[in-house]
Amino acid sequence: MTSYVCVTCGTQYPPADRSPAHCPICEDERQYVGLNGQEWISLDELRQAHRNVLFEEGEGLWGIHTQPKFAIGQRALLLETAQGGFLWDCVSLIDKETVKLVQEHGGIRAMAISHPHYYTSMVEWSRAFGGVPIYLHDADRQWVQRPDPAIEFWSGDTKKVGDDLTLIRVGGHFAGFQVLHWASGEQGSGVLMTGDMPQVCPDRRYVSFMYSYPNFVPVSVATVCDIVHRLEPYAFSKLHGAWPKFWVVGDPKEALRRSAERYLRALGEQGL
Ligand SMILES: [Zn+2]
Ligand SMILES: [Zn+2]
Repeated sequence: MTSYVCVTCGTQYPPADRSPAHCPICEDERQYVGLNGQEWISLDELRQAHRNVLFEEGEGLWGIHTQPKFAIGQRALLLETAQGGFLWDCVSLIDKETVKLVQEHGGIRAMAISHPHYYTSMVEWSRAFGGVPIYLHDADRQWVQRPDPAIEFWSGDTKKVGDDLTLIRVGGHFAGFQVLHWASGEQGSGVLMTGDMPQVCPDRRYVSFMYSYPNFVPVSVATVCDIVHRLEPYAFSKLHGAWPKFWVVGDPKEALRRSAERYLRALGEQGL
């Protein structure tokens, strides 16, 4: 039995004798099947060809990234909180070296993932740290390819997952898209971790909002306004996207507003 991982999106499937016929995540219109058709790799093969590096992304905040690049190429974030380690988003590779690196920074007590493109090997990660809970939004339940008792679905608009940690459902890219707010991060000025929604642009001065990033499909005016509205009540001095070093430079709340206004102007609207 082998746990196959999709080479294009990094999603791990339940252990099986042969690779699955399809990857529904890649066949969805927000992703794509690679030029060579559907390809798979076993977790053991992935371990032989890649390794994870851990690096500082902020105060008590560590990036975990697979090298050389694998699948979509996002990094996970490890938060060192007063209540213990919290893993935000995930990557496909988990091995003994990674567990050791994470343990040296306090381990993981729970995890949450923004959306299905980063579900990857979440069950494998949970088990590596004793079966810790994985918080996912219920509206994306259908996209879970490897069900597990560790997964805790929540519904509604917000969920507290620690004294200073709140999951906020913003939707847009996926119906259940969630971001993580860390109130005591950056010396109490607050940190927002958004993954893809909004996504930090390469100039790091703007963010953007897409239904599909690889296939260039935008979201509606109403969706952009709704996301800005949902994030308005939260204080944060740092906003992290999905890639290493992709945080907004300058005031991220100002950047969010400026970016939403630019987006709306491009769609023919006056502004927020
Ligand atoms: Zn896939
Ligand atoms: Zn995505």
